[in-house]
Amino acid sequence: MENGLQDKIIKGVNSLFEAEKQFLHTLTSHQSTRGNEQSAQDFIASELSERGYEVDVWNVNVKDISHLPGFSPVIGDYTNAINVVGSHKSKTKKGRSLILNGHIDVVPEGPLEMWDTPPFEPRIDNGWMYGRGVGDMKAGLAANLFALDAIRSAGFAPAADVFFQSVVEEECTGNGALACLQRGYKADAALISEPSDETLTSSQLGVIWFQVQLRGIPVHVERADTGSNAIKAAIPLITALERLEKSWNNEKYKHPAYASHHHPLNLNVGKIEGGDWASSVPAWCTFDVRMAVFPGTDLKLACNEIETCLLTAASENTFLRNNSPKITYHGFQAEGYSLLEHIKPETKIAINTLEKAHQEITGSNLVHVPTTATTDARFFGLYSDTPALVYGPYSEAIHGFNERVNLESLRRVTQTIALFIAKWCELEAL
Ligand code: ZN
Repeated sequence: MENGLQDKIIKGVNSLFEAEKQFLHTLTSHQSTRGNEQSAQDFIASELSERGYEVDVWNVNVKDISHLPGFSPVIGDYTNAINVVGSHKSKTKKGRSLILNGHIDVVPEGPLEMWDTPPFEPRIDNGWMYGRGVGDMKAGLAANLFALDAIRSAGFAPAADVFFQSVVEEECTGNGALACLQRGYKADAALISEPSDETLTSSQLGVIWFQVQLRGIPVHVERADTGSNAIKAAIPLITALERLEKSWNNEKYKHPAYASHHHPLNLNVGKIEGGDWASSVPAWCTFDVRMAVFPGTDLKLACNEIETCLLTAASENTFLRNNSPKITYHGFQAEGYSLLEHIKPETKIAINTLEKAHQEITGSNLVHVPTTATTDARFFGLYSDTPALVYGPYSEAIHGFNERVNLESLRRVTQTIALFIAKWCELEAL
């Protein structure tokens, strides 16, 4: 690509940056927690159709995807699980096609008093935009959309098909991205602009969610010695899971991509409920757990190990021996994915192309970082043989309070993605 054209695209991002920030502000004000994504998706769909893209809006249907590899058990209902895809169809198709993916769902905001300002009333302060989901990952959706706008403002369009995807369910199952595969969206590479702090995510872990239910016999607290305290019964089980976590992180089992990471596989007891009354011995307790696994781990075997761990611990406990814990899986059954192990010529070319674009915009080398989290990249990489690059802006307090994205980083990432599209897809006249 000639330098003049490259400059034009970079300047295009700059001249549209106020509009990009406004778009991000509006998108972040939509409270798109799981099950409530509809208005945010309507907004995305209208922005796409205003720009002349072919827009596909559909309700994810469990029946269509439940038989596919990568499917995760569903939490709640899918009445409002709407995916949106905007397609650019190239006239010449001389370049490589591309999926630009992002998720619209955001995690719950938590206690409001922990936020300095309301989480769904975004604000800009000292170069950062604040709000739930602004980093994870509405800024990424903005970067994807405005990277395409910048190319158009230079008088060009990608010379290959490009699919802009805004999907649901990334934070709990990934079934939104899976539904895009099922619907037939396929390209030579995918780019997911998750908040990776301007690094390339070289590997990601798998994630398993499970729930443990304990039931006992309720009695008055004065007879607590004869009763079964379901809340206290959870403690030895959690301790046993922590021992399992420790053994899975043992050096000898470590995936090479995580060799320098001292504790890549994190267990999280993320939610616990139990009991009904301060003076009644609790008859029930339920807790939800997230556990990570390395790329290449068979999820069935990992689940078997978790169950054995819990049942063994239960057999050593007087109450649990007679009240076996019930283990159910809902949400993530996500395999790990290592981009660097995705053996395909296109993988190398895609990485090199992103490296060049990043170098041109930032002046520094693109750093490859293995993440201890999961993303939708696994669907493209594992189940569609499509190299999936995760690359996005600097952000802080993702899933926390006062979540924020750095706006100059968003500008750079938008520029990098625009150059990546121009190089990967090549360009044709509008
Ligand atoms: Zn995310």
